[in-house]
Amino acid sequence: MEKHILVTGGAGYIGSHTCVQLLERGYQVTVLDNYCNSSPQALKRVEQIAEKKIEAIEGDIRNQALLEQVLRSKTYSGVIHFAGLKAVGESSEKPLEYYDNNVSGSLSLIRAMQSHGVKCMIFSSSATVYGDPKYLPLDEAHGLGPVNPYGRTKFMVEEMLRDLVASDSQWSVGLLRYFNPVGAHPSGLIGEDPRDVPNNLMPFISQVAVGRRQHLNVFGGDYDTPDGTGVRDYIHVDDLAKGHVLALETLIERARLLTVNLGTGAGCSVLEMLKAFETACGKPLSHQVQPRRPGDIATSFADCRLAEQELGFRAERTIRQMCEDTWRWQSNNQNGYS
Ligand code: NAD
Ligand code: UDP
Repeated sequence: MEKHILVTGGAGYIGSHTCVQLLERGYQVTVLDNYCNSSPQALKRVEQIAEKKIEAIEGDIRNQALLEQVLRSKTYSGVIHFAGLKAVGESSEKPLEYYDNNVSGSLSLIRAMQSHGVKCMIFSSSATVYGDPKYLPLDEAHGLGPVNPYGRTKFMVEEMLRDLVASDSQWSVGLLRYFNPVGAHPSGLIGEDPRDVPNNLMPFISQVAVGRRQHLNVFGGDYDTPDGTGVRDYIHVDDLAKGHVLALETLIERARLLTVNLGTGAGCSVLEMLKAFETACGKPLSHQVQPRRPGDIATSFADCRLAEQELGFRAERTIRQMCEDTWRWQSNNQNGYS
């Protein structure tokens, strides 16, 4: 019998890529999304790629009555919970919105799952829960100390889920700590489509490449890194999606708490990424070095050994593929889904 998975926030960037792989692996997929940062068009494209249908429900994870109705409607094997707000800067300006959406929203969802006996969840956490690295690479045993409200919402939901698993051994929970997801599906049909001025490096570079922005601002040229610019662990979104499918399969089989980093284990600087993108799009891209962005750290990259041991997960796609796939998506969809 085909297994049915509920995906909250499935129309978003990471969710849409994960839905493609779930459908390709034979899962039936229901997406619950309020489209506050996405478009229903993304799900049409997912169906086009996978040549399978998705059940799409427009709604909010904070709507308890709706959650009850969705969870009652069929037997789910698990929930992949992507829905949430994710802009670090905005989270300092509107902390209550972040706590409401990310923490209260997750609590509503977990409660509804509990009352319907759906006890398998994968949660989108983030490397930001580690805060300032005390050592590198960051392993899962590194202490936790998020330094902004967004990171604290991720930390709080992790804590909630750890307490839940400790109280009820039937629960199976995956806390997946993403490093820096970039790239797009190789079809060029789905990709990252930020609503406002992009906060993140890759979508900003790709908007410079299509002429939507004049130049890239490089935040800081004086870090203690080989070229002075910030170093991060960029992971292709399709590798990340594969990590979700592997985690789901492990968690459905056996109830447990799984906490793993999803990254590549390698760092790439802002200038290295810019150069790789110039190669992918075949033209020079203008940039200006600016002061450091408040709250940024010099270097972050993952220790990926646990994900390999526990899930057999290893990220395969290179920086070159990340840039080529992003460029295909962005050049075919200059204004995203709109
Ligand atoms: P995204 O904004 O593209 O996707 C989130 C989706 O959730 C959107 O479709 C949005 O409309 C939906 N949503 C938000 N609040 C909702 C609510 N209350 N009810 C229903 N739907 C709601 O973001 P993404 O990059 O795909 O990230 C997915 C998850 O992964 C988020 O939880 C994010 O915090 C986490 N994450 C992302 C990154 C990253 O760099 N992209 C890194 C680490 C963790
Ligand atoms: N960055 C940059 N210009 C931008 C956006 C980001 O120089 O317009 C840098 C940022 O300072 C960091 C790296 O790119 O060193 C990755 O930033 P991003 O916001 O994508 O991810 P973060 O690791 O901060 O979550």
